[in-house]
Amino acid sequence: MRENLKQHDLVSGQAQTLSFATGHEGPWQTYLAQVDRVVPYLGPLARWAETLRRPKRALIVDVPIEMDDGSVRHFEGFRVQHNLSRGPGKGGVRYHPDVTLEEVMALSAWMTVKNAAVGLPYGGAKGGIRVDPAQLSRKELERMTRRYTSEIGIIIGPQQDIPAPDVNTNPQIMAWMMDTYSMNIGGTATGVVTGKPVQLGGSLGRVKATGRGVFVTGREAARRIGLKLEGARVAVQGFGNVGGVAAELFAAAGAKVVAVQDHTGGIYKADGLDVARLSAHVQARHGVAGYADAEVLQGEEFWGVDCEILIPAALEGQLTQARARGLKARMVLEGANGPTLPGADDVLNERGILVVPDVICNAGGVTVSYFEWVQDFSSFFWSEDEINARLDKILGGAFVAIWETADRLKVPLRTAAFVVACERVLEARAERGLYP
Ligand code: NAD
Repeated sequence: MRENLKQHDLVSGQAQTLSFATGHEGPWQTYLAQVDRVVPYLGPLARWAETLRRPKRALIVDVPIEMDDGSVRHFEGFRVQHNLSRGPGKGGVRYHPDVTLEEVMALSAWMTVKNAAVGLPYGGAKGGIRVDPAQLSRKELERMTRRYTSEIGIIIGPQQDIPAPDVNTNPQIMAWMMDTYSMNIGGTATGVVTGKPVQLGGSLGRVKATGRGVFVTGREAARRIGLKLEGARVAVQGFGNVGGVAAELFAAAGAKVVAVQDHTGGIYKADGLDVARLSAHVQARHGVAGYADAEVLQGEEFWGVDCEILIPAALEGQLTQARARGLKARMVLEGANGPTLPGADDVLNERGILVVPDVICNAGGVTVSYFEWVQDFSSFFWSEDEINARLDKILGGAFVAIWETADRLKVPLRTAAFVVACERVLEARAERGLYP
């Protein structure tokens, strides 16, 4: 099935067939299970629920580039627009060797839910290239980014679909994307991507926004379960843009970051790691491995660390049922997208461990991306204090609405977030009606 799909550029309405063809419990299956849980709460809107189970549009592109040694390599790229009922598509672009169409579909769907849960005027989209960017030179990375942007140029644009950074992509890559799109249309379209460098229409506060959102929602959740941040022990998986910033903000609020795990290994320090020192080490050595002032965590040890707050901020599918059973934390803050498998969600729920779901917890990035897009349109830029104040207000407000929904329906926060979001998406769908 997947081979057949690759022969076509545009694939619509094949989502379920495709996901079953993958034959494993991947992220799209996780997302579908989350939708199944919300449908009983949708009342008459459930009539439209099938919309949520199908990406609107999925584009697979071939990205050939000339390597520095003169050879030619082909990379596989994707851009999926899951739902555009509430506005243009919005979602990041990921560079990772494990990227698949199925993963990008799930990530795009979570963007639909996230944007609606927070009340941003966007649909959901996501992109990716199946590549290990660490193996490319800077020039090769630029050529690949530009060719990918050109290939997906037929469906992106400031009013169509606006990419942003995700795993292994950054402001420089957004600058190349913006420039390539602009060259192709013969103008300068800063609003085609967000997460750009500030001098190219980027927004102050964007780099730290996702980690900041994890902190803001975590602080709100902690207050509600009577957990003091001062002295609370925090374990973080992933020490990149999201995990690194979240760790920094929790440490600044008096919490102790006791464990960090990334793709190079895990480290532990009972009385708290020096986050600034660790950041410098990670910058220099591209990972936590080799950090001197900590014990090394072996294998699964990270998941059993004594802590109050666990922040998975790496990749999806990390919190399995087995890991959920052994978890010591009082709450899980989902910095990553889709880190908790549905079975693990049940275990955490039974054990009374609060999960602040990705669709609200890591929505700080897309919220400031929205601010960036608005600033680009108006060519009028805000101060960082203004941005942080608006971010806190929007995310704090969205958190309260979801908390109250969870309370009213007696459901976990994830289901509540999906109820709030899916109602908004399906109301828009119903009001727009079907064309023709
Ligand atoms: P990043 O590339 O800056 O960092 C990724 C981190 O994950 C690194 O520390 C890496 O070592 C670690 N990692 C990778 N594979 C791992 C593995 N197998 N085990 C343990 N750690 C591993 O990426 P990021 O932007 O921080 O994104 C992290 C997560 O947050 C992703 O799920 C992403 O979709 C999500 N997210 C990012 C943003 C954003 O604005 N960057 C917004 C919302 C959600």
